[in-house]
Amino acid sequence: MARSVPQSGAAPARLDLDLSEPAPIPEEGVVRAIETIRSGWLHRYGESLGDASEVSRLEEEFARSIGVRYAVAVNSCGSAMFLALKCSGVEPGTKVLMNAFTLAPVPGAIVHAGGEPVLVDIDADLTIDLGDLERKAAASGARHLLLSHMRGHIVDMTRLMTLCERLGVTVIEDCAHTMGAGWAGHPTGTFGRVGCFSLQAYKHVNAGEGGLLATNDEDVAARAILFSGSYMLYGQHRNRPSEEAFARWRNVTPNFSLRLGNVAAALARAQIATLPGRKRTWNLVYGRLAAALAEIDGLRLPRRPQAEDYVQSSIQFTVAGLGSEAFRSFLAGCAERGVVLKWFGAAQPHGYTSVPSHWGYLADPRTPPATAEIVSRLCDMRIPLALSPEQCDRIVEIIAEELRRVRAMPAA
Ligand SMILES: *Cc1c(COP(=O)(O)O)cnc(C)c1O
Repeated sequence: MARSVPQSGAAPARLDLDLSEPAPIPEEGVVRAIETIRSGWLHRYGESLGDASEVSRLEEEFARSIGVRYAVAVNSCGSAMFLALKCSGVEPGTKVLMNAFTLAPVPGAIVHAGGEPVLVDIDADLTIDLGDLERKAAASGARHLLLSHMRGHIVDMTRLMTLCERLGVTVIEDCAHTMGAGWAGHPTGTFGRVGCFSLQAYKHVNAGEGGLLATNDEDVAARAILFSGSYMLYGQHRNRPSEEAFARWRNVTPNFSLRLGNVAAALARAQIATLPGRKRTWNLVYGRLAAALAEIDGLRLPRRPQAEDYVQSSIQFTVAGLGSEAFRSFLAGCAERGVVLKWFGAAQPHGYTSVPSHWGYLADPRTPPATAEIVSRLCDMRIPLALSPEQCDRIVEIIAEELRRVRAMPAA
């Protein structure tokens, strides 16, 4: 692959920061986690433990932070989505709509619940195409939507909910990238019947692994608690549905053992409390990068509507006018200089990124046309919290230089 030859003879500038560096754990979380380990009470339940476990407190605090009645902690967001689908009536063979631009645990959760994914296209702003959603709902007869707020981009939730109510479609929100975010004054995860959040290391709260399911529906909450593996200790959940709700489900619900442990919960609690500060930092860095990248000829960033209250821990942009070889050379050139841009357009799945054409277990593993076209030109970069203004400028400079280089390549 052709490499850049610096005009001046000086070595090309490099980014001196690992973009995949996870967010640090606040000291308070470290102390609580160590105290928990020393105590030995690592499992969330215990016959003499009462309702004081770290997990139970995390659920209570998280539910309060987004204004829902119930939160149920589980071992991943994938597990939360699986349970949300099970608790919303998805059975073997049930069709479930999903936006095609997302991560592999989304179709995975649908298949885990026995459902069949129905792929819906996206638009240039990376959010679900509401016209295609209506067409696919009609054509498939599907009555469930697992909506991913992928990479933090939030569709017009007022329009989406109106449409889904008219179509009789139950909405479940995948908020893996939108903890702390909202639309028109309401937190994501509170529009649909269930909201699912991730505590995985690369999301907005880093507990290593973990997930939270949020709902106002007491049957969903009771079933999720029982499915998650509460044994008969569900009385130890601080915010829990009524005894009547549990009585309806307790003897007919299998235990899937998807619990969260107390150490992860101790790490998460400290970060839920400090999320507003991290949100400000991420959005400040995003704003700086977005403004500078938008100035580069041929780059386009998704529009951010006024009603969208995002938490942008990553940044996405499309690049126009490059052939596929030039595009790959651009990505390789940036990566060599420390600016690792993820790409969803590769023939094979790579790292965290994949698209429907890689999910060979689907009945129809084809990426919908607009999604395929957009991801072939889409760059995706993580925003570590520690990124300084100088490093932002360096990133933009590297991207601009590499773009100039590949544009000058013969037959680009
Ligand atoms: C990470 C992620 C998930 C799943 O989260 P886990 O906690 O790793 O299971 C779901 N959806 C999207 C869009 C994600 O990025």
